[in-house]
Amino acid sequence: MGTKSLRLPAHAKLNLSLEVLGKRDDGYHDIATILQTVDLADQLTISPSSQLEVHCDNPELSGPQNIVWDAAVKLAAHAGVKPWAKMKIDKRIPMAAGLGGGSADAATGLLGLNRFWDLGFTEDKLISIASELGSDVPFLVQGGTAIGTGRGDLLEHLTAQPSVRVLLIAPAQSIASKTPTLYSALTPSDYSDGTHTRRLAGSTELSTGKISSDLCLNAFTRAALEIFPGLADVWEKTAAITKHPPCLSGAGPAFFCMPSDEEEREEVAGALRDTGAKVYLVRTINPTQPV
Ligand code: C5P
Repeated sequence: MGTKSLRLPAHAKLNLSLEVLGKRDDGYHDIATILQTVDLADQLTISPSSQLEVHCDNPELSGPQNIVWDAAVKLAAHAGVKPWAKMKIDKRIPMAAGLGGGSADAATGLLGLNRFWDLGFTEDKLISIASELGSDVPFLVQGGTAIGTGRGDLLEHLTAQPSVRVLLIAPAQSIASKTPTLYSALTPSDYSDGTHTRRLAGSTELSTGKISSDLCLNAFTRAALEIFPGLADVWEKTAAITKHPPCLSGAGPAFFCMPSDEEEREEVAGALRDTGAKVYLVRTINPTQPV
């Protein structure tokens, strides 16, 4: 058990491509996606305690309802130790937006507690525990750039890509039970076979940092524009300004345009002022977290 506090960033992800191949018998969908971490991050602080505590600067996310609580309990059960730690989360990643905020906190919780409790679990072991917590959690244990298949948890990491600046827009509203709702709104016409994702993963545009959102694609776009209140308006106002078209991240409602710059961010932020949307200029990153 650690005696010193640990402070770790939990990075958000984008989906540079997200194809849904079809529905499976277990209720999940097979997908083909390219996941990419960016430098927008929550902060997780782990410190000693004689019980498990999870505190978040958003009080609704404190306590056992936080996925970080589940991560601590599962990791402790695998290790046969008591899940004792005080975990504090400073949220910076917009919630339920398609940016993997909760999943990033859970992945970082596993990495941090592995060190804090001195468990010595390998990265592969942490990734297998991560897949019990959610489909995006395994990727966020490592971050960087990867193709995800299966339900998004079978990963093939791609070599580090040059960093690209990305304009990221998070509309003010999300909806309850967002991910299952969006998956069940898909129809077979939204499905594809993964060819686009595999082609993009092997492209020189991706490997040389020339990737632009013109090449990106997301199977949830039609459903998201219909379902999220206000998204179509925010999307259209953004598209009227940016040099590259918007692409949805995850099941939305956040979306991105890339490459971008500060001038574009200011212009879009001005156009979206009355919508409540948050507008960020972020960078793609390939973080290396020690296990
Ligand atoms: O894995 P995660 O907890 O993020 O999934 C939440 C829900 O989203 C699942 O219960 C399922 O309804 C849906 N889902 C899916 N196919 C995926 C990932 C998620 O249908 N590949």
